[in-house]
Amino acid sequence: MSFAELGLSDHLLQALSEKGYQVPTPIQLAAIPAVLEGRDVMAAAQTGTGKTAGFVLPMLQRLAQGPKVRANSVRALVLTPTRELAAQVEDNAEYYGRHTQLTTEVVFGGVKINPQMQRLRGGVDLLVATPGRLLDLHSQNAVRFDQLEILVLDEADRMLDMGFIRDIRKILKLLPQKRQNLLFSATFSAEIKELAKDLVHNPVEVSVSPENATAHTVEQWIIPVDKSAKTRALIEVIKRNSWFQVLVFSRTKHGANRLVAQLDKAGIKAAAIHGNKSQGARTRALQEFKDSDIQVLVATDIAARGIDIKELPHVINFDLPNIAEDYVHRIGRTGRAGSVGEAVSLVSLDELDLLIEIERLTQAKIEHRELEGFAPNNPLPEVALKAPRKPKKPKTTKPATESSKANRTPTSKNSRPQRKPRPGSSASSEKPSGDKPQNQRRRRRPKPEANGNR
Ligand code: AMP
Repeated sequence: MSFAELGLSDHLLQALSEKGYQVPTPIQLAAIPAVLEGRDVMAAAQTGTGKTAGFVLPMLQRLAQGPKVRANSVRALVLTPTRELAAQVEDNAEYYGRHTQLTTEVVFGGVKINPQMQRLRGGVDLLVATPGRLLDLHSQNAVRFDQLEILVLDEADRMLDMGFIRDIRKILKLLPQKRQNLLFSATFSAEIKELAKDLVHNPVEVSVSPENATAHTVEQWIIPVDKSAKTRALIEVIKRNSWFQVLVFSRTKHGANRLVAQLDKAGIKAAAIHGNKSQGARTRALQEFKDSDIQVLVATDIAARGIDIKELPHVINFDLPNIAEDYVHRIGRTGRAGSVGEAVSLVSLDELDLLIEIERLTQAKIEHRELEGFAPNNPLPEVALKAPRKPKKPKTTKPATESSKANRTPTSKNSRPQRKPRPGSSASSEKPSGDKPQNQRRRRRPKPEANGNR
């Protein structure tokens, strides 16, 4: 089925053709007609499936049919957990809507707030926001929701993991009761289901891959290796396979920095992105990686969120994540939108429990492949797959306020000529310290990087 057959307008079809999309992905096939009909949608779709276009395209079409936006008002709101994802979603929305008269904007913390207030003054058809900054803007009367028609929670699981539940509930109270709600999440924990109960009404349920399953276009395997040999093994894997554009995951920021130094020493050009790096440094590293100026990008889980690189071929888990769901997110970085990727995990015996939890969550065994010359002294046993966990009772989180003050300087495409600086560009005048919220947000789960990139 083509995009035209889904009922999208000529303006949107033109943008899609310019973007080079030929056929809709499964999530788009399922979500676009439902959103066009005005239905609520609850979708289990990880990043890489084409989910953004799945909600943005039909939203733009609906918005194009509605009334003109009033001053300081917003007609559709997309909430995302991180700035990178917010910027990326808005980039897509701006592109898809380029032949329409609709305005799009993005606001997030860590940059100055005043320019954002100015940009909201004329009203915005589609606003992408991180929750804390949106509340800040609302408390300063810079944004109104009385015209709001559509709400999207994107990567809802990650928003809850990052402690945004209170902010989200506060925002929900500010919105008109009658609206269309779209909920996207890679995983559906008991807590997400609880949130969904209050949010979506009689939703169309869409699942493009089984709950908590990893993208099947990704070939995954484990290299059993001693902890002390991991760095050498990493270098060996990259060199032996002549891999370029490798995204390496490190559990900690220090680990990421150390790896970059060791890779550089081995003649492999690398850079790190994590919460201690300024937005500018992160954006630069990402751009160099996209442009293939560096071979390896070492990232922590939070910083990697929202990275969208087409057909990213290789992901290596230098260490396994503490949270099994993060494995699914990491793997979602490769094999995007139907391309085939490889995901390799270097696993030492001390990580066996983490591995068992990952296999239990995804309900799939991951193949072990020894790396020649790296057979571990402490072998990694093959453990039988455990039955899936029963959902836990949802826990309540502590109050959390995103209070990072600041902004970026973007524009809406119709009214302002200059290009929006992406998060971290020099025009947004951020400082590394701007990454940190003033009040430390309490996370529910262990996380080495408490203030990632909100
Ligand atoms: P997302 O899951 O929204 O992060 O999208 C993942 C990637 O797939 C992005 O690079 C999109 O630009 C790309 N994409 C989305 N829809 C399509 C499509 N129908 N055909 C080809 N690429 C697509």
